[in-house]
Amino acid sequence: MDGSVIRGRIPVAKTFRFEVGGFECVSISDGYQPIGAELLRRFFAGAPLHELHQAFRKHGIEPEYMDLACNCLLIDTGACRVLVDTGGGPFFDPHLGNLVPGLQAEGINPQDINIVVLSHGHRDHVGGCIDRNGGQAFPNARYVMARGEWEHWTNEPDETALDANTSRELSFVRDNLLAIEDRLHLLETDAEIVHGIRVFSAPGHTRHHVAVEATSQNKHLICVADAMDHPIHVEHVSWHAEWDELAEQGIETRRNLLMRAVGRAALVHAYHFPFPGVGFVREDAAGWCFESLKPGNSI
Ligand SMILES: [Zn+2]
Repeated sequence: MDGSVIRGRIPVAKTFRFEVGGFECVSISDGYQPIGAELLRRFFAGAPLHELHQAFRKHGIEPEYMDLACNCLLIDTGACRVLVDTGGGPFFDPHLGNLVPGLQAEGINPQDINIVVLSHGHRDHVGGCIDRNGGQAFPNARYVMARGEWEHWTNEPDETALDANTSRELSFVRDNLLAIEDRLHLLETDAEIVHGIRVFSAPGHTRHHVAVEATSQNKHLICVADAMDHPIHVEHVSWHAEWDELAEQGIETRRNLLMRAVGRAALVHAYHFPFPGVGFVREDAAGWCFESLKPGNSI
């Protein structure tokens, strides 16, 4: 990854429990990705530099370096345990791969997961489908993914058109996805996958990126995955990661998700927001901002 810095810190298993109506939820840190100065700026394409530095100061970010959190989400409906994204797994990045120890720290074994939703095919979201021995990380789980996203990552690429990095990334993702092929349910369109949990299209970051909404007792949780990468994107909706596949559509998706969250007083879970990445979107005259959920609070 361009501009990344390895600082040699060892990530620890971190979890954050909260409730949404009758659903028990846990945000589980898979670890973090070290982001150096150049890459950090590229998370905010379209930002005037002085405004970006102001935003960094407000959020306590050094312009030279940031730990990019990776937070998986478990939703236990009582009837079904649904995991959203599998983290980077054992092979992608030494700072990632803490999902399973995190689950175990909460008394949940990999065998207990019934459904895994994959928001999109990037390595930090699908790398944990296989374990260190190449076996199933979640042996009893069915997987849910958008058909277009699956096809994008598993179709045979034209290798001659790819640079070495892209080729490595593609084969990493394909290895993980093909390992779960026989347990996969591909979504053609938005769908309720189990009672109270809906997967819906949220395109932009990738063309077929999905978000998840959990609803219990009229309380809502919207898992936005990578539709926004940092609370700064809540305040500055039009700043976007340079690698968002469809940047304009991604901005529209972000705006829609934020309006939906405010309109339903929903909790938001965001994969890359500082751990635990759970909170509310607040709206005032200045616009939107993200307010973290305090430990012990639920809705
Ligand atoms: Zn990501």
